[in-house]
Amino acid sequence: MVSPVHTYRDVVHQVIWNNKNVTVQKLSVFEKHCFSKGIVTVGDLLSDGGVFLKGVNVLNANLSPLERFKLMSIADALPCEWQRIIKQSAQHPPSHIGDAFYLKMEDSEVALSKVSSKLLYVAFKSRKQVPPTAQKKFQEKFPQLQTDWREIYSLPFTVTIETKIREFQYKMLNNIVFTNEKLFRLKIVDSPSCTVCKRENESIEHLFFLLRRDDDLLGSLVLLA
Ligand SMILES: [Zn+2]
Repeated sequence: MVSPVHTYRDVVHQVIWNNKNVTVQKLSVFEKHCFSKGIVTVGDLLSDGGVFLKGVNVLNANLSPLERFKLMSIADALPCEWQRIIKQSAQHPPSHIGDAFYLKMEDSEVALSKVSSKLLYVAFKSRKQVPPTAQKKFQEKFPQLQTDWREIYSLPFTVTIETKIREFQYKMLNNIVFTNEKLFRLKIVDSPSCTVCKRENESIEHLFFLLRRDDDLLGSLVLLA
């Protein structure tokens, strides 16, 4: 009876010595010298790429021609099903090495073979990422507003390819648009009032929400940008 061997992993773990499934002229085999050099399983015969007799232990074993010949006959004696599985895995390099190592991420472990540069980028970025201080100020100013900040921060990259407008959105989101109100505080202008209507202080809210429709919003934006 053949023991269940279905995957490349199963095949490479099969012991080649004294195995009733691996027989040369109907007899199972044992080679003491090869065994003592760490050649024990089918996997020991194989290189990482699935090539017979190119495994590290075989290459380091200092085998005599006769011993090499015996290993070749063992490779030939492996059941057809195993040979097929090995051949298939050689086309798709085995992942048994990658699966054994895990990378500890923020809140999970990821198999090394599954780690992509994008995953690493996101993980490293999230360590350094802090929301702009402006976000808190906006939330205090407009507590009734239900906002998806992720979406808001991605707006500059989705609504325009114009660098100048992206830059302006960045300034808006970080509250570093220099309105008269701000410039007055820095003693750079004489009055905090709005350049366009002169009726109220020129704050970012005034410019975007409170400015009367007949006022020249575009003009004020050009001034700011
Ligand atoms: Zn105004």
